[in-house]
Amino acid sequence: MFHYDDGIHITPIGLAVDVRRRQGRGFVSHAHADHMARHARAFCTPATSALYQHRLGRRPVTELPFGEPLCWGDLQLSTAPAGHILGAAMLLVESANGRLLYTGDFKLRSSSTAAVAEPPAADVLIMESTFGTPRYRLPNREEVVDQLVEEVEAAWSRDETPVVYAYATGKAQEVTRLLTSRGISVMQQRMVYAISQVYQSVGCDLGSPELFDPQRLGRHVVIAPPRKQRGAYLELPPRKRTIALTGWALDHGAKYKLGVDVALPLSDHADYDELIECVERVAPRRVFCTHGPEAFVDDLRGRGWDAQPLESQTRQLEM
Ligand SMILES: [Zn+2]
Ligand SMILES: [Zn+2]
Repeated sequence: MFHYDDGIHITPIGLAVDVRRRQGRGFVSHAHADHMARHARAFCTPATSALYQHRLGRRPVTELPFGEPLCWGDLQLSTAPAGHILGAAMLLVESANGRLLYTGDFKLRSSSTAAVAEPPAADVLIMESTFGTPRYRLPNREEVVDQLVEEVEAAWSRDETPVVYAYATGKAQEVTRLLTSRGISVMQQRMVYAISQVYQSVGCDLGSPELFDPQRLGRHVVIAPPRKQRGAYLELPPRKRTIALTGWALDHGAKYKLGVDVALPLSDHADYDELIECVERVAPRRVFCTHGPEAFVDDLRGRGWDAQPLESQTRQLEM
């Protein structure tokens, strides 16, 4: 059904899955750079299609809306929400021999900009496992948002501009919506602003964020890409409070590594408990783990699952 050759390939239909090099036919689970390439034809959800073409220009795309299966040879393909960013999808491939589920990047918690994940049952599960050790247990999302709002208000009271560093696609819009829905005004760096326009064009309301204007900062939160992201430059006021929102905030000394005043643990990836919950909900016969620690594979095996690292799987798998 699938093989791994420097990326996942659905063998019978020649469909590459989240491969970063150009392919004839490539499934794009979501619009993050490490999951996209200029494929001859891309397969993705309508929202991912809009973000993908915003980034790479107009390209041939076959859209796969959630829950609308596509028959292809002896296979049936469908997408289900992955809860990671707007448009992010899991891919379900069904054949007479069984069902394969690829999660892409995902989380099970709710989001203000992405549909909640609904991992369907499958025989084979290929899963992202970034936070696959028990030290990565994220606190309740509402509590983290409350902390963020406290930081913002404390910064204003000291006459500082709060600056949130967040990836330009996904996290930046999520933070924008979390803040605007609490009545806080947001200004966005131009790259973030352009992507937010795409979000709003496909019906994801962000509550009227404004384009960054250093003359009118007032009581706004500035949202900018992490400084290492390309095109991220922004001329910020000298009095500012910098905030990063990432699951890695759980690491000791994260704010020093990230070079910010405060790091808060808000993630668009599943934490350890969500990864385990995902496996239990899908209840597969075999699990292949990717983008995570080997310790997570051992952990799953200890819990009785037939698990292995995806990258060790180079020959074709029969289901
Ligand atoms: Zn991603
Ligand atoms: Zn990723």
